[in-house]
Order: sequence, then structure tokens, then C-alpha cells
Amino acid sequence: MNILVINSGSSSLKFQLLNMSDESLIVSGLIERIGIEGSRLVLKKDDDKYVLERELKNHDEALSFVLETLIDAKYAIISSLDEIYAVGHRVVHGGEEYTKSVVVDDDVMKGIEKCIDLAPLHNPANITGIKAIQKLLPKVKNVAVFDTAFHSGMPEEAYMYAIPYEYYQNYKVRRYGFHGTSHKFVSNKAAELLNKNVKDLKIVTCHLGNGASIAAVKDGISIDTSMGFTPLEGLVMGTRSGDLDPAIVEFVSTKENLTASEVVNVLNKKSGVLGVSGVSSDFRDIEDKAKEGNKRAELALNMFDRRVAKYVASYAAMMGGVDAIVFTGGIGENSASNREAICDMLTFIGVELDKEFNNTRPKNKLISSKNSKVDVLVVETNEELAIARDTKELV
Ligand code: ADP
Repeated sequence: MNILVINSGSSSLKFQLLNMSDESLIVSGLIERIGIEGSRLVLKKDDDKYVLERELKNHDEALSFVLETLIDAKYAIISSLDEIYAVGHRVVHGGEEYTKSVVVDDDVMKGIEKCIDLAPLHNPANITGIKAIQKLLPKVKNVAVFDTAFHSGMPEEAYMYAIPYEYYQNYKVRRYGFHGTSHKFVSNKAAELLNKNVKDLKIVTCHLGNGASIAAVKDGISIDTSMGFTPLEGLVMGTRSGDLDPAIVEFVSTKENLTASEVVNVLNKKSGVLGVSGVSSDFRDIEDKAKEGNKRAELALNMFDRRVAKYVASYAAMMGGVDAIVFTGGIGENSASNREAICDMLTFIGVELDKEFNNTRPKNKLISSKNSKVDVLVVETNEELAIARDTKELV
């Protein structure tokens, strides 16, 4: 049973085709610059990589190019579109309504459209992707998998902001959390690796990528997470500020003669480790510069690590302890030095890292020492597989 997974962004589109009889990856691809000159599809199959240039004006054209490529004999992927059993779509915002994945019908489309207000950059692109597939593959069922869904079990005291209650009642201003598919996937995987039931564990999952968030997963339920109303809250990220004093928005807008929305744009796109270091949003570049003695690069890394440790410790306190800490995402999976710096700040709760093993590029492995009171793991996230699993289950 082949399932196509689509993650549709405003000008990009990622996809994977998975064989769900054995959960193997058949092919993956990325289209960039949709609607912009120079659009292209990068296709990866086994060890082969193909770059296919094609002018793609919109998502309809992009997805029809994907389907055309999937059945192109040159790449020997599938011979007919009938071999696609269902399509799973990543949808960023499900609001309060969608607490789990759903098969898409007219009501669901309306529901996702209603959430545009909450995710104006993301949900429209996700909707465009679903509509394009409905047109191109009319017989195939679509499933929507929401980034917010896993956090829908947060208690009121975790999701409410301390602002006038009417803003919640009238406009649904509250914390939603994101990266839910990843937090759910890695917390389950960690339990499996530890040979324990996730329902008996207190886990802190650290999804550290360009966008980064942490979740407190108690008995399999996310009871708090660092991203909030939007993905801007919480950790210091590649280009996002994370937590700050909201009064800064007005202060900077006056000083720099910017509108509130322009300041928020700066907080989203020009802040984080990029803003502090002035070097890059990419951790590899920042680590290289820090090693060469660049003080601002070092500062950016220290700020990032400190914020992560603060969240982990506060979530441990809130859950009444922590059994396992999970590192995932591009940085969490690959940067041994960040993991070490973060764990060094957590020795007081009994974290003890096996520093040598931490440096061996571990994947899906325990990296804490035998004496550690808390298990620390590196777990590879796989949001596409998680989406395909939900899709398979629902169709
Ligand atoms: P996203 O999916 O949010 O775009 P990823 O999870 O792919 O992001 O993570 C991207 C980040 O991971 C980049 O900042 C990149 O520098 C970092 N990264 C990838 N490999 C390494 C590495 N070997 N060491 C340090 N950072 C790394």
C-alpha cells in the first residue's frame, strides 16, 4: 500500500512516497521556488539524486509535475497513479477543533480554512496542496495531519495566556504548540527504545531544528510545549527570537519607525541565532565561527543551549520528575556539542551524559551513562512516516 505524503509550503513543496506494507521509503522530493523564476524538483531515490528544472507557476502545476515524475518510466518509481492508495497532508494549524488526524471532506476543508486566521502563512499553502490533489487524483482519499493536534491535551493552565479572558473567548488567543507530529513520534520511539510503555513515562522531547520546540510528554500526552499562539514563542531558533518581553515590540517599532507587523517579521526572520551572531541561521556555520573565536557566535550558541536547559528543567519540575530526555531535529540529532552543553546544565536533576558515546553520531540510541538518573536519547524524527501511519490507519 503506497501512501504519498505532502508538506506544502508557500513557495515550496516536500513529498515522500512510502510503501506502508513495510514502511519503506520509495522516493522523496522537494520543489522549490513555486511561482518564482528558477523552480525545480529535486528527486531522491535510493542513492540517486535528480535535479529537474521546470517552470511551475503554482501548486497545481507543481503537484502535477510530481505525479508526472512518479510515473515517468525513466525513474522507475511506480507505473500508474492507481498505485497511490491515499495522500497524507501536513496541516500546520488545526485550531481547537482538530485534536487528531482526519479524512478530508468538505467540512474539514471549511474547518482548515477557518484556521487561516491563526496561521496566515501556512494554512493557505496546505489548503492549496489538498485542493490540487483533489483535482489531480479525484478518487484518492486525503488525510489531514495537524501540527497542533498532539498538544491539544494541554491543560488550561498551560495553554492560557495571562491576558484578558475575552481575547481567548472572542479570538481564540491561546497557546497551541507546533511540531506535534514530531514530538509524538519521538516520544513513542523513545519508549520503544527503552522497552517501556509511553503511558508510564515522563519524557521531555527537544525538537531542535531551524524551528525548535520542547514538549513535556507525561503518560503519552503533551501537557506543555514551548511554542505558543504561533511558532515564534519559546526557544531561541535559527531566525526566531523565542520568548521575549512583549514591550520590546512597541519600543523597537518607535525607534526603528516600523509597524508592529514589521517588528514581528524581524522577530521571525532576522532574530534568533542569526540576529545575535550576525553570522548565519545555520548551526554548522555558527559552530565553525565560534571555534575560530567569534564571540557573538559563541554567545548565540550559549543563549540557545541555556534556553533549552531552562525549558527542560521547568518541564521536569512540572511533571514531578523526568524519566527521559529526547534530542531530535537537525541540531538535536547532529550536534554533539550542543547536546553536551545542554546536559551539563542538567546534572542537578541527575543527568549524566556518556560524553564519548555522544560524539559517535548516535542515532536512535541512549547517550546517557549507566549512572545517569535520567535516560537521554538521540532519536531520529520522521514526520512523513508519522503522517503516512495516520493516513493508513484512517483510510
Ligand atoms: P527544519 O526542518 O526546521 O528546517 P532541521 O531539523 O533540518 O530544520 O535542522 C536544521 C538545522 O540543523 C540547521 O541549523 C543545521 O545547521 C543543523 N544541523 C544539521 N547538521 C548539523 C551538524 N552536523 N551539526 C550542527 N548542526 C547541524
